[in-house]
Amino acid sequence: MKDQHGRTIDYLRLAITDRCNLRCAYCMPAEGLSWLQRDELLSYEEIERLLTVSSSLGVRKLRFTGGEPFVRKDFDRLLETVARKKQFESISLTTNGVLTAPYIPMLKAIGLHSVNLSLDTTDRERFKTITRRDEFNAVMHTLDGLISAGIPTKINAVIMEGINEDALIPLALLSKTLPIDVRFIEEMPFNGQGKRHAHRYTRQGLLDALEQHFGPLSKLQDLPHATSENYHVAGHRGKIGIIAAWSRTFCGTCNRLRLTPSGQLKTCLYGKNDLDIKALLRQGFSDEQLAQAITDCVMHKPRDGREAEALNVPAEESMATIGG
Ligand code: SAM
Ligand code: SF4
Repeated sequence: MKDQHGRTIDYLRLAITDRCNLRCAYCMPAEGLSWLQRDELLSYEEIERLLTVSSSLGVRKLRFTGGEPFVRKDFDRLLETVARKKQFESISLTTNGVLTAPYIPMLKAIGLHSVNLSLDTTDRERFKTITRRDEFNAVMHTLDGLISAGIPTKINAVIMEGINEDALIPLALLSKTLPIDVRFIEEMPFNGQGKRHAHRYTRQGLLDALEQHFGPLSKLQDLPHATSENYHVAGHRGKIGIIAAWSRTFCGTCNRLRLTPSGQLKTCLYGKNDLDIKALLRQGFSDEQLAQAITDCVMHKPRDGREAEALNVPAEESMATIGG
């Protein structure tokens, strides 16, 4: 699929649930959440059908995310079923790691491309403050298991001023001791309350703080659709990356689509819901009609996150309902 800016759109990020077993401060409020009801979610049958149509339209990369994917019942079975069909060149997963460890052999067996594991601190007490849950040990157990299984793993961290800035260097140092990349994501205003915590740890703030510790970082050549800019630090086994999700420096080469847990297609993270796929599925659209509706929608993908944001109604969304 091509959009009106000539970009090939071949990457789908599918959030299969809005529910989560953590309450990360940058993602959702501590309380007062109203989850989607079961019939508001796309069923697994609907997801499988949509994936078949997406693959026929040229989607090559698939990522499962959420909410926390493993919170949804039988997610492992969906993953196995989708992998078995071999419709995608790569299937990846973003997870908080709390429930993931027992599924690692299955992830290995299905040939999962990679895992992005969210971890914002190396300290158990700080983990409790950020996520409002005491699950640090479970996440570290998952990290160990992923590395032992040889599944390519990246850590995603959000650094918030006054909350976990002391985690920046210890997290970056994990890429020295372990064969993993560590990426720092600029905080976006998707915590359910429409505001960010602080502005210091933007791309430049992160880079300054990293260079203060490690000295000048050597920039690596990034892949064409990369969201992260990556750096090599001498002696480190993995890379250190910055994802300028708020500065939006990577929009120009965007190849991504998102499907929310309620079946809304988003052509930009900062944009509105562009197409109600669930409604089309439930109105009895044929695969051909569905394919046409998606192709038309993708054609109007905004140029970048700024344009998308300008066209959007200011939202108080949580990243868990967008899918990260
Ligand atoms: N629950 C899974 C997890 O945490 O990995 C998957 C969903 S989570 C919404 C996906 C990614 O979005 C995580 O890496 C998380 O750090 C990131 N994220 C959530 N809210 C964010 C925000 N406001 N700004 C930047 N990144 C955010
Ligand atoms: Fe849950 Fe992931 Fe959001 Fe944290 S970032 S609250 S783990 S969905």
